[in-house]
Amino acid sequence: MACNTDTTDHEYEAQTTKINQFLQNVDHKIVVMSGKGGVGKSTVATNLAVFLSNQGYKVGLLDVDVHGPSIAGLLGLTNLKLNIIGDKIQAYPYTDHLKVVSIQGLLDTPDQPLIWRGPLKIGIIRQFLSDVIWGPLDYLIIDSPPGTGDEPLTIAQTVTDCQAIIVTTPQEISLADVRKSIEFCHKVNLPILGLVENMSGFVCPSCGNMHDIFKSGGGETTAATSDIPFLGRLPIDPSVVTAGDNGEAMDSLTSPIKAEMQSIIGKIIDQLSNKQKGADSAMKIAIPLAGGKLATHFGHCQEFAIITINNGTVIKHETSTPPPHAPGVIPNWVADLGCTDIIVGGMGEAAQSILSARNVKVMAGAPSLDPEKLVALYLNGELTDSGNACEHDHEGHECGHH
Ligand code: ADP
Repeated sequence: MACNTDTTDHEYEAQTTKINQFLQNVDHKIVVMSGKGGVGKSTVATNLAVFLSNQGYKVGLLDVDVHGPSIAGLLGLTNLKLNIIGDKIQAYPYTDHLKVVSIQGLLDTPDQPLIWRGPLKIGIIRQFLSDVIWGPLDYLIIDSPPGTGDEPLTIAQTVTDCQAIIVTTPQEISLADVRKSIEFCHKVNLPILGLVENMSGFVCPSCGNMHDIFKSGGGETTAATSDIPFLGRLPIDPSVVTAGDNGEAMDSLTSPIKAEMQSIIGKIIDQLSNKQKGADSAMKIAIPLAGGKLATHFGHCQEFAIITINNGTVIKHETSTPPPHAPGVIPNWVADLGCTDIIVGGMGEAAQSILSARNVKVMAGAPSLDPEKLVALYLNGELTDSGNACEHDHEGHECGHH
């Protein structure tokens, strides 16, 4: 199968459509990243995929480390050959629940070095998302090469609702690089699910005591200072190397690292379900404006701020011009916009009852402040609803129309 990098705009758009069609049917997309190589990123990605699939999830594991693909080796698939059916690549069925795709499966020999420039790499990653027969997936786990180059950038730009797990070792040199990865995620709007500190302490097989070879806790501190979730620590465990070299995952081990990995996965699943709940309870708040601040005259304001909140943070701030005033028009317009809440100074009973019939929550009696300030007060429970703040309106008009 030829690598398709010389695409026209039309072909590029058609491919984007195919990618989005595939991604729409995958519940969770996770890219595993690291600042440096050799910190155990592929080990974490592979074990994440294996453990999730053992829990009954349908998982796709995609290795986009074009220069140093290691997923196949970690799964014992050193001679992986991906089947091509027509113009599609068949994902390799490692088990009923785990499918694997790696550039290694398209090479003539596993040790063949690849000298690829950016556009070629971007092309093959996009093809892995558009032209692979994956089957239905609950999770797509993507192993990205270390650093902040073309591969993670392509993933961030192409897999729009992807989330990142960052793997680091505890020593400062690794942490310095991890801070760059965190910065990168913020810049490209890639939400971070959390940080894993790998090779954190060593359990001595002879004495059974824990020794902090590379120190430990640096990852947790970095997570705390960067305000990202800390998912857990994995100790250095010589049996991981042997298992990895034999193509076996950690679930085949009797070592305590298995329980640590399980706990990390439990936290990831919790994070995802909390985010899902947050997304389900996303709010869209309307605020009537005059001169950039809350307008006391709801029915006659020039424009509305429409602020979307997800997980307690503002993700979108738009302004919208309402239709000309007539009784009932503006409350219905606010509801039609999909607003869940409205913050106003005063509002008549008629408008309030239309809004409540349309499940839009009204917060009346708010002060004339900047809309984001009002939203922050509202989310913190610091605004008190004064009920029907507009006492003159008993005739079916919004406040301000007397
Ligand atoms: P990366 O993807 O960051 O380059 P790998 O996952 O390929 O790193 O791991 C590099 C090497 O370190 C592998 O040989 C792997 O088996 C080993 N390794 C990873 N995590 C651990 C651990 N917790 N204990 C011992 N060895 C580990």
